[in-house]
Amino acid sequence: MDNPEIIEFAVSFISSITNDLNESLYSQPTANLNVIWKRDDSFNARAIPKSRITEPPVHIIELTYGLVIQLYNDIDEYCSYIENKSDQKTFDILFKDHSGDTSILPCHLEPEDYRKNMYIGALTWVYFHELAHLNQEHVYILNKFIDTKHHSMYEEFNVNKSEPLKDKEAAIHHVLELAADFEAIQSCLRELIRHFEGDELTKSIGLFVSSISCAIYKLHNPTELSLSSDIEGSHPPSIVRLEQILPQIWESLDLYEKANIIDTKLNRKDLVHICDRSATSACFFWFRKKQITTEKMRNFIFVGTINRPGGKLYLQTIIKTWDVIKPEIVKNSRMLDELNTLNFTETLRDLVLEC
Ligand SMILES: [Zn+2]
Repeated sequence: MDNPEIIEFAVSFISSITNDLNESLYSQPTANLNVIWKRDDSFNARAIPKSRITEPPVHIIELTYGLVIQLYNDIDEYCSYIENKSDQKTFDILFKDHSGDTSILPCHLEPEDYRKNMYIGALTWVYFHELAHLNQEHVYILNKFIDTKHHSMYEEFNVNKSEPLKDKEAAIHHVLELAADFEAIQSCLRELIRHFEGDELTKSIGLFVSSISCAIYKLHNPTELSLSSDIEGSHPPSIVRLEQILPQIWESLDLYEKANIIDTKLNRKDLVHICDRSATSACFFWFRKKQITTEKMRNFIFVGTINRPGGKLYLQTIIKTWDVIKPEIVKNSRMLDELNTLNFTETLRDLVLEC
């Protein structure tokens, strides 16, 4: 697709989801969800609440043309990289113990179609992430917990870094980003399950993981990765976000499979392997594209945040912060779904909080 086609496709797709939401979650007479398109080249998205917490929701999601164009072009380039098989020998070694069909891109779809499927995955994830900030009233939560009124929106990528946030404010920002990611992933998985079943669902899971890994790796700078209990800035490092998302995907799908909600016949190990193949291939794509040096690979590849220097301390602060604010999120969410609410497993808590 060329740029005008990409914009037309994205606007049409996002409009249809927004219309559906205006007939369901935003169906009260004065409630409204609006999408504003910014005609600039920046890679950015915003979530802007316009209603008070006590009023029916009036919410705006702002997306730039630059974001939707770059998301597609990265996916297109990633697919060409996989099709060219330039790193196939490395993948064959890395994935040699994986069972079944280990191809990363599906044979049953035309290249144009799997590009579009992946693009829908990435667009949906960005959109649902913004929607989660609004649904969980994160601006209200933020102002309440840091006792201010100066936050009026959530901005994703062009956040002013001249004075990075610190301490409690930074920790709350980070945990709310993870909470928005969590809800967005649950919403995306539900959409996948609604549209696909059996083998098609299996292939779609892989494409979805590739697409969001592509989007997340775009923003990952391994030289800036530094984790500790002293959290700084407005967003978690991109690789930390991916390291929370991947287990969420395989654990959720494993639960759906065990509850007979899906019928992929995949066990937990198969699901881990699909996520691993898709995310690793996106990692290698960006490793080549960004010309990352091999000594930075340890910071570049996903290894699990708990295994990183300072990772356990970082997660301790995140979990403790979440435990304080979660009751307010539950109280104020526009549509509360326990499955959509960020959750740290007891196993992770034991590992992180033991020291
Ligand atoms: Zn966000």
